[in-house]
Amino acid sequence: MKDSELMEKIVSLAKRRGFVFPGSEIYGGLAGTFDYGPMGVRLKENVERLWLQMFRDSRDDMYGVDAAILMNPKIWEASGHVSGFSDPLVECEKCKKRFRADHLDDKEKCPECGGSLGDARQFNMMFKTHAGAMEDDSATVYLRPETAGGIFANFKSVVDSMHPKLPFGIAQIGKAFRNEIAPRDFIFRLRELSQMEVEYFVQPSEWEQAFEEWRKMMHLFAEAVGIPQDKVHELEVPEGDRAHYSKRTIDFEFDYPFGRKELWGLAYRTDFDLSAHANASGAELSYLDEETKEKFIPHVIEPSLGVDRTVLAILASAYREDDMGGETRTYLALAPKVAPVKAMVSPLLKNKPELVEKARDVRAELQKVHPAIAWDDNGNIGKRYRRQDEIGTPFCVTIDFDTLGEHPELEGTVTLRHRDSGEQERLTVAEAADRIRSAIE
Ligand code: ATP
Repeated sequence: MKDSELMEKIVSLAKRRGFVFPGSEIYGGLAGTFDYGPMGVRLKENVERLWLQMFRDSRDDMYGVDAAILMNPKIWEASGHVSGFSDPLVECEKCKKRFRADHLDDKEKCPECGGSLGDARQFNMMFKTHAGAMEDDSATVYLRPETAGGIFANFKSVVDSMHPKLPFGIAQIGKAFRNEIAPRDFIFRLRELSQMEVEYFVQPSEWEQAFEEWRKMMHLFAEAVGIPQDKVHELEVPEGDRAHYSKRTIDFEFDYPFGRKELWGLAYRTDFDLSAHANASGAELSYLDEETKEKFIPHVIEPSLGVDRTVLAILASAYREDDMGGETRTYLALAPKVAPVKAMVSPLLKNKPELVEKARDVRAELQKVHPAIAWDDNGNIGKRYRRQDEIGTPFCVTIDFDTLGEHPELEGTVTLRHRDSGEQERLTVAEAADRIRSAIE
């Protein structure tokens, strides 16, 4: 399959099966926005939950915040975003279309109409709006372009309320907004996106060790969500290409169907942010080491992960087509941990009340393992399997007359079908529950 074809198939499956819909679709859409549907929202939540577990909750040195998206604009002045968060924009003199200059191979010619391109100018990517009834500059606020700002702004409050010992980190998941010049590639480059970010504060001399720790954690996270290691590549970002605040950056790139592109970033931001905010706000943003009585501004390591790019990497990694006796079977080989539905339960026939009743009991039993156990009694069993395959449900459990004891030796057993191999096993309900439990744990 060609890569462009694969991308089309992923987008089409995502829409058909309720993962991702174009934003504002009934009004013709809005560039750079997508909405997560019933399956997508579960997949996204599972990704976020795993991240929270691994990056925050399983550690004693991590704290969470959920900061407001609208913040005092001075934050973005101090962080350098008002003056520096921009991309080079060029406009075609003929068709008036706009492009990101650094994304063009030919900087002189319009890739759409061949017209000549004007000079590049810097375009600030922050969305502006106004707080309150005044619409003048005094009321300008920005939609945050990264979640990190809300973490730095809360550093003092977290220190004062939780009294953490260095090294410690603050984690946050939330929306960020970037007025991208050319949003594209489905949910890869969005104008409204979600980020999962950690700012990990360390003694200046200990940054390298922390950098290595989080670097490993990011690979572990890729593995946990089912992104294969051989599709993830580290790129050491050279000095000239690094963000203004960073002394070292590694981009974690993924082999997307449209090329190798940034999935996540890991940056050493030195004391740039806390120092800048301390200077601009006048607040005391240093840390007092109780033992040495030394007071200093901690340095920071930032693992920054885009939720949407993670979801896309998961979908692209999981998409499969099989030839099943001349018929194509499409399925998502999702890691059971992130799959929106863990198992589907169905009665072989829906017009047999005794089968339906037993199947309802089995479903209730399996929901003790995990609540995301679906019910499907629509159409024939083959169709139900196809539907579940396409949303990546790892197991299907079918209740038939043998479950009810038609052959006494099989009474109480069910059929458990495995998504990837299509193989089926005859198991007791307790054994089926164990299979599901061990797959998602
Ligand atoms: P790019 O170079 O692709 O524009 P970036 O280097 O500006 O990305 P960062 O500022 O490092 O990205 O943002 C951290 C993470 O947020 C990225 O690694 C990515 O996962 C995610 N991200 C950034 N911009 C977007 C976007 N427009 N749409 C979706 N996710 C994004």
